Amino acid sequence: MTTHKYDLMIPEIPYRGNRVVLEYVFVNHTGFELCSKTRVVEKEPKCVEECPLWDNYMWNDVHGRLEDLKDMILKPVAMFENPFYKSPHKLVLCDFWISKEQPAAINTRYTCKKTMEKLDYDQDTGYRPKQPFEPWFGIEQEYFVTSDDGIPISYEPDKFDYESMVLVTKIGHQHAKNVGIERELSNRHLMACLYAGVDIGGNIRENDASQWEYQIGPCSGVSIGDHLNMSRYILHRLAEMFGLRVTLHPVPVHGSPFTSSGHLNFSTSHMRAKGGIKFIRHAIDMLSKSDEDALLKMYDPTLTHENKERLTNTSSPWHPQLHKFTCDATNKAKSSVRIPPLVIVNECGYLEDRRPSSTIDPYAAAEGIVKACVFGDFL
Ligand code: ADP
Ligand code: MN
Ligand code: MN
Ligand code: MN
Repeated sequence: MTTHKYDLMIPEIPYRGNRVVLEYVFVNHTGFELCSKTRVVEKEPKCVEECPLWDNYMWNDVHGRLEDLKDMILKPVAMFENPFYKSPHKLVLCDFWISKEQPAAINTRYTCKKTMEKLDYDQDTGYRPKQPFEPWFGIEQEYFVTSDDGIPISYEPDKFDYESMVLVTKIGHQHAKNVGIERELSNRHLMACLYAGVDIGGNIRENDASQWEYQIGPCSGVSIGDHLNMSRYILHRLAEMFGLRVTLHPVPVHGSPFTSSGHLNFSTSHMRAKGGIKFIRHAIDMLSKSDEDALLKMYDPTLTHENKERLTNTSSPWHPQLHKFTCDATNKAKSSVRIPPLVIVNECGYLEDRRPSSTIDPYAAAEGIVKACVFGDFL
């Protein structure tokens, strides 16, 4: 493995003075890659509205064509504490705008927000209905830790048969040669997210060599995207310090059985209330009838082809199959959609769509599942 650089970090520089560092964080045209740049302001912002607008060059098209490279406005939308330089410094998530009124074409947050508002306000009267939907989302982010060549750092194909191996939750170097440094990255990420105020729910050692997962949520409405994006940013920043790469690609090593998911968990107030399982079953029925290609494109606007590679990869037993919709409590691994065991016991809760990949665009996906289950837009 490549030597990790974590122990080479210089000691923390003490902070003096009153000025505050804002690390502006934004998603590029891919919908899952994070970028950042930093500015210094005179006083600590108390809310995101106090963070100034900025600008940045970005491709205003998911294909990243040269002619679509535009100078656009960066608008702060969510503010977190900075786990790298500590309070009062901040991480500031932004989305892209053409003008103050016109969102950029790559701004999937804007349309997501509009759809979420439709759920909680009567379109004719503008009033809140008696029982608003109050959508909640949770995303399970899987990723691989790799060295510079893109190969998972604990991968030993001569030693293990990964197709029959079950590594999930296992501890010990006998199963994975670099699990110690991977676990340290995963746990430090968890602590950094908690410091920042990112709504992380836990982490788990996943099934493949050097594969890990953490969960974000449940978050209400559009905030699922803000929290997932900031968690991804913190993960990549920490990996930089360790001298390691992390990849969110669903099939990081083509032709291998390795695949990463971004399971999407969803509920409405009706599903969470007593007896809500009937609404969960209704939503699953809507999903089963929805055009799968259209929905997968919402889940992952730029890398649908990579997700299709994952869903047609027959050498991995750990994911659903393309165009074979199932909701099967007895075969979790291959099920497209799942009702978790405790939801069945409690007869209320949420459902899990297991088809989205690890490069899921959280805003587009949250909007997509609402359009499919509630508005029936893909029937
Ligand atoms: P599993 O690996 O069994 O699929 P996890 O524990 O990894 O389950 O993930 C469960 C996910 O479900 C988490 O992201 C969590 O935030 C989310 N979740 C829990 N309750 C709800 C709910 N009521 N509505 C939406 N998402 C939820
Ligand atoms: Mn999980
Ligand atoms: Mn998982
Ligand atoms: Mn899951």
